Amino acid sequence: MSGLDGAWTRRWIEAIAAEIATRKSELTALDRAIGDGDHGENLDRGFQAVLGKLDGLDDAPTPGAVLKLVATTLISTVGGAAGPLYGTAFLKAAMAAGDRPELDATGLVEVLTAARDGIVARGKAEPNDKTMVDAWGPAVEAAGAAGDDVRAVLEAAASAAAEGAIATEPLVAHKGRASYLGERAIGHRDPGAESTALILRVAADTQ
Ligand code: ADP
Ligand code: MG
Ligand code: MG
Repeated sequence: MSGLDGAWTRRWIEAIAAEIATRKSELTALDRAIGDGDHGENLDRGFQAVLGKLDGLDDAPTPGAVLKLVATTLISTVGGAAGPLYGTAFLKAAMAAGDRPELDATGLVEVLTAARDGIVARGKAEPNDKTMVDAWGPAVEAAGAAGDDVRAVLEAAASAAAEGAIATEPLVAHKGRASYLGERAIGHRDPGAESTALILRVAADTQ
């Protein structure tokens, strides 16, 4: 495959839904430790709703059309912090993708950058605030340095997001519910950073 087309984008989203359904209780357990214990359920509800809407797409949707459907569905079905944040990420990603039929490495980096920037604009988290930004930030940096092969860009983003999620463990949180815990959040991985790592790992594994 040279670039990522709409069919690939759809397979990616379907694989996210499957992986979140499988790992829902793990994500919720992370959120139980430093939040309100609903992150897995929130995302599972959202991505199951997305699955139900994918058949309403054209036969050959653009990547942008798939991303936009995900955005609007997450915004309307996932509450809390993560719904608007992921909704904004997918909406900005859709806008960056535009009506291009395929994303090459440059286009993919633009889409990932737009997603990260949307989350930062919406949530105002800075690096090391112990949020999903700590996975998105390193992912975008690594993606931009990975060269002109889309598979290499996806793999770089997935690896960096996983490392970024692990690196939230020693941090005190400065945004979201975990910020109420002060030093008691130390030692726990941020659930949103972990779900970001999941989403990007699934992208790298989607053929
Ligand atoms: P809620 O906290 O409303 O129950 P979720 O549990 O679904 O929402 O999502 C919590 C995750 O949202 C956190 O783990 C964190 O990664 C992310 N988050 C919360 N606030 C922010 C923010 N201001 N900026 C970026 N991410 C945030
Ligand atoms: Mg929660
Ligand atoms: Mg909640």
